Amino acid sequence: MEIAVIGGGLAGVEAAYQIARSGGAAILHEMRPTVTTPAHKSGLLGELVCSNSLKSMDLLNAHGLLKEELRRLDSIIVRTADETSIPGGKALVVDRERFAAKLTEEIENDPGIQVVRGEMTSIPDGVVVIASGPLTSDSLANEIGRLTNAGNLFFYDAISPIVDAQSVDLESAFYASRYSKDETGDYLNCPLTGEEYDRFYDALISAERMELKDFENTSYFEGCLPVEVLAERGKKTLAFGPMKPVGLFDPRDGKRPYAVVQLRKENASGNMLNLVGFQTKMKYPEQERVFRMIPALRNAVFLRHGSIHRNTYVNAPLCLNERLQLKVNERVFLAGQITGVEGYMEATLMGLMAGISAIKAQRGDVFIPPPPSTCAGALIRYLTTENKHFQPMNINFGLFEGYAKKTKEISVERCLQDIEDWKTSIHNKKHLTPHS
Ligand SMILES: Cc1cc2nc3c(=O)[nH]c(=O)nc-3n(C[C@H](O)[C@H](O)[C@H](O)COP(=O)(O)OP(=O)(O)OC[C@H]3O[C@@H](n4cnc5c(N)ncnc54)[C@H](O)[C@@H]3O)c2cc1C
Repeated sequence: MEIAVIGGGLAGVEAAYQIARSGGAAILHEMRPTVTTPAHKSGLLGELVCSNSLKSMDLLNAHGLLKEELRRLDSIIVRTADETSIPGGKALVVDRERFAAKLTEEIENDPGIQVVRGEMTSIPDGVVVIASGPLTSDSLANEIGRLTNAGNLFFYDAISPIVDAQSVDLESAFYASRYSKDETGDYLNCPLTGEEYDRFYDALISAERMELKDFENTSYFEGCLPVEVLAERGKKTLAFGPMKPVGLFDPRDGKRPYAVVQLRKENASGNMLNLVGFQTKMKYPEQERVFRMIPALRNAVFLRHGSIHRNTYVNAPLCLNERLQLKVNERVFLAGQITGVEGYMEATLMGLMAGISAIKAQRGDVFIPPPPSTCAGALIRYLTTENKHFQPMNINFGLFEGYAKKTKEISVERCLQDIEDWKTSIHNKKHLTPHS
């Protein structure tokens, strides 16, 4: 019995390939070129919708490590990227036409994969992997929304930056919750004086912003306005909004600061801190320049940049289990960006995991994800851990179990060893024999 994969983007191609290389059969449904999305331009599988850079190749950079993990798991996306790369310094940059054309040819000629063109407007019977991406067509999105309870499928993200807790200057910050005398409060507060606020404000409203795509040119929800748009409403708007200091007193002088940026723990270990209410459309280098004007963040290391996108994704902690199945219907797997990860390679990784998990489920075997010391395990743990403020996540070292900057090399070695061990464990099962 074939496994249906919906969406022939990065995740869907990877999922179909992993099913086929495990000896299974996949039907890959891609709506393009019959029906297209506002961002895609061709009918090719695995088309890159924007940049042709797959980011760093350096193993000591989380993006580089993620690609190496994919390479070791025989990812068709990374192999094809390696084969169609063009010079790009330390980044893996591809010739986008050759990349997508080569992928399409290989997938269309794979005896284990049948490619069917046309929009899927409902979810077929049997085991299904949904990899329809951030621009999932409306009719399919309605179906997914119905299955996951409409409130758990989102159409825009509003992402605040995350910084490495070890990079915050604790001499210039203090723990406290509003109106609480407890100095071990839930928030790490970064105070600003009136002069510091004025300088920060001027930099914020004049910073360069990302261009909006036509289909993103829509009014923002009032509750998740970009911080720079909020600032344009008046010089004091932020000081009365996300930067309001009420109920907070700086223990260094006992006074209320002029303004405060609050940092909230993003994960249980507290090594990742979220700038509360600072979703932004500033360009990435501008975010770093402007936010480092906050005294406690002068040396901040950014693990995730802020953004606001058109993006279809589920409330993963409520909807998904660690096998990437919908909790309410375990024959349906999600893959790619729709799971709540962010980025080309993260989407690919969630395609690879969902493909292996789906073929295992079809064979009545249990899928155990890689440990959280690996990129896949760390991202799956993020997706499936309770989180009232869930927003899509890119790979970063803050997600790794026991990560510390000074032991980065050890984390990298452990990740690569653990992924090799995991690969051996899944391929040792006699029912999951690669046909290559
Ligand atoms: C405009 C835009 C720009 C982005 N730029 C970047 C970037 O520069 N770098 C980066 O790392 N990430 C970027 N991303 C984020 C993300 O990494 C990519 O969108 C990535 O392609 C996601 O992979 P995916 O396989 O989940 O979805 P996609 O690659 O979008 O693949 C989904 C596929 O499903 C098909 N489909 C949708 N609905 C149906 C249906 N009903 N039936 C059949 N087929 C269907 C689509 O045609 C598409 O081919 C961007 C996202 C967007 C929206």
